[in-house]
Amino acid sequence: MAYQATRPRISPENVSFAPGPGVAVELQKHLDDRTLPERDRRFAEDLLRAYRNGGCTGPQWDWIGKLCARAQAAIQAKAGPAPQATLDNVSGIIDLVERARDKLNFPKLRFDVAFEGRYTTIKLNVAGAKARVPGSLTVVAEPEGQESHWIGRILRDGRIQVSKPYHSPAWMQAFTATLHALSADPIKFATAYGRRTGNCIFCDIELSDERSKHVGYGRKCAKNYNLPWGDRPTTPEF
Ligand SMILES: [Zn+2]
Repeated sequence: MAYQATRPRISPENVSFAPGPGVAVELQKHLDDRTLPERDRRFAEDLLRAYRNGGCTGPQWDWIGKLCARAQAAIQAKAGPAPQATLDNVSGIIDLVERARDKLNFPKLRFDVAFEGRYTTIKLNVAGAKARVPGSLTVVAEPEGQESHWIGRILRDGRIQVSKPYHSPAWMQAFTATLHALSADPIKFATAYGRRTGNCIFCDIELSDERSKHVGYGRKCAKNYNLPWGDRPTTPEF
């Protein structure tokens, strides 16, 4: 006898698990991947042994379904829900990027997010008409020595959406803190960034002129983005 003929009792916990090889294979996979809660391992092994040795009874199938559901719940709990984060005001960031729309094909901001003792360089640009969410801000990571990759987007209503590898609360905290500072006063942020790093937030080129160092961005970018440039520091900067 391969399988028990009687139908397993259907409970809310296992309603999506039809008895049969498929669900047994899934439970075995949860065992192999260690995605099953530790306390259920021995029971799962007993059930799968019964399955291999001639078939399971209705209640045993019932339990195989329940254990698969528990493993899936554990996987879900570990992944965590997509983090919710919003910015109060995105329009200032978009305005700053778009200031250079007439002069540049790809106006963008590039700056660092301090995370786990290191800096992650990210690039922001306004998504074009052909993008999935036109007009939103696209966020791309540009890690040193690695290929750049998509982090997520900031919608015009302020919602921040990030891809799964960036769901960790620690990253979201660092990321949103930086974005809050940027959105609160984008030009001030650009200036502070250039002064701190010595690089222009718009083109990433090192600032050499003392007037550029003073405003925190280069002369050419000041022109492209219609920003003040030319003042010399009134007091010596140390
Ligand atoms: Zn520049």
